[in-house]
Amino acid sequence: MSDQPRVEIYTKEECPYCEKAKDLFDAKGIEYETYNVTGDDDLFEEMVERSEGRKTAPEVFIDDELVGGWDDTSALDETGELDEKLGIADDTDEEIEHRKLVIAGTGIAGLTAAIYAGRSNNAPLVIEGDEPGGQLTLTTDVANYPGFPEGISGPELVNNMKEQARQFGAELKNGIIESVDASSRPFRIEMSDGDVYTADAVIAASGASARTLGIPGEDELMGYGLSTCATCDGAFFRDEDMLVVGGGDAAMEEATFLTKFADTVYIAHRREEFRAEDYWIDRVMEHVEDGDIEIMKNTEVTEIHGSQEAGVDYVTLVENDKGHPTDRLDDPETDEFEFDVGAVFFAIGHTPNTDYLEGTGVEMDEEGYLRTQGGDGGGQTETDVPGIFGAGDVVDFHYQQAVTAAGMGSKAAIDADEYLEDLERAAASEGEGEGKGASEDEDEEEIAAADD
Ligand SMILES: Cc1cc2nc3c(=O)[nH]c(=O)nc-3n(C[C@H](O)[C@H](O)[C@H](O)COP(=O)(O)OP(=O)(O)OC[C@H]3O[C@@H](n4cnc5c(N)ncnc54)[C@H](O)[C@@H]3O)c2cc1C
Repeated sequence: MSDQPRVEIYTKEECPYCEKAKDLFDAKGIEYETYNVTGDDDLFEEMVERSEGRKTAPEVFIDDELVGGWDDTSALDETGELDEKLGIADDTDEEIEHRKLVIAGTGIAGLTAAIYAGRSNNAPLVIEGDEPGGQLTLTTDVANYPGFPEGISGPELVNNMKEQARQFGAELKNGIIESVDASSRPFRIEMSDGDVYTADAVIAASGASARTLGIPGEDELMGYGLSTCATCDGAFFRDEDMLVVGGGDAAMEEATFLTKFADTVYIAHRREEFRAEDYWIDRVMEHVEDGDIEIMKNTEVTEIHGSQEAGVDYVTLVENDKGHPTDRLDDPETDEFEFDVGAVFFAIGHTPNTDYLEGTGVEMDEEGYLRTQGGDGGGQTETDVPGIFGAGDVVDFHYQQAVTAAGMGSKAAIDADEYLEDLERAAASEGEGEGKGASEDEDEEEIAAADD
């Protein structure tokens, strides 16, 4: 009999974070039991009781001790504590491993870069980060990725890409990059679990993370009726009134998805106009006509009320026809009112994941999005640090689509390949030059050319 601790995972159907939790234990070779709470009220109650009132899946237990949801589990993994709890921590001093190319992220950009880099014989090491598979794993319905006329689920598309990347020699690894040291070459990459790699080139394809509002009630109720993932948690609030906060594609898609479960879905948007594509607005408007969705324009949430035991009770909203009502709280025309809802879903955009690049000299905008060369011709994904490239949503705050992330991922791999070839050529001619007694000046010129 196995002497590993007993791992139990409460799951539900159509739950991307449940799949991530299972993938994490699979990758560690750890066996686990799953309990699917979908349609099983007794099991659902058992999960809520064991997880101290939380109504989200997954909920992970190790030897009967609550670890928590995906965020808690991946946070423990990040520090290495998960491996300690599982009895698989590696205490030996690890040697620093060198890689030609390290790719941060297994979203669409990172995986496309991995496919291209693998095919160019650059054997990339691809780091999964705290959201393996990236944002697209949060949607069950990708209708606009070319080549799939019937649509495809996000997790399926991502898994296909992972398989394709591995076929070409990419290695995918769980873990989070903590920092990149660009003060010397090769780059030194420190992982949050203490592992260290060196690399000749780095592709930053680390995407963006869901934003929150920082309002009262948020910290207490996250996971207890407040969520940033409708596809993950919507089914737990069946027949309740639900509030979606936001006005972009994600808000429209989440509101549409929630009509499957909600009594009524309300969308609170701080402006008059939506930012979403016409396709999504049209789908929402169909539901508005059917009475499933109601739109509250020029409206913002200022507080979420409830408790961890009973979930979300109601929210405080402010409304002003001029838009952005929280900027106009002193305006007599700003109306503040309480509104009963059973669940709240934030769909208010993302923050780029670029902390690990601070101190490298890579230029970022005021929000932290990476600045790359852009423009025409080669080198579009170069940052201003030679050897570090950027691709996908971590650069592209405007388009933020799977297909544009894929396009940039392929460009980054091609740019990185050219950079690596230049490095190799410079190193080879340096070796030859030494043999022939070439001047140091000539060598320096060639190395500088590799950096151009
Ligand atoms: C709910 C939802 C539905 C969507 N639906 C569609 C759709 O239908 N069609 C469409 O075209 N687009 C859709 N999008 C947008 C699309 O998912 C994104 O544009 C796309 O996933 C961006 O890919 P990316 O690889 O740039 O970044 P991400 O998908 O954000 O992936 C980033 C990766 O980087 C990793 N990472 C982060 N920090 C680190 C670190 N420090 N170290 C290592 N790794 C790190 C993360 O773990 C993750 O694997 C949707 C988005 C959401 C949220």
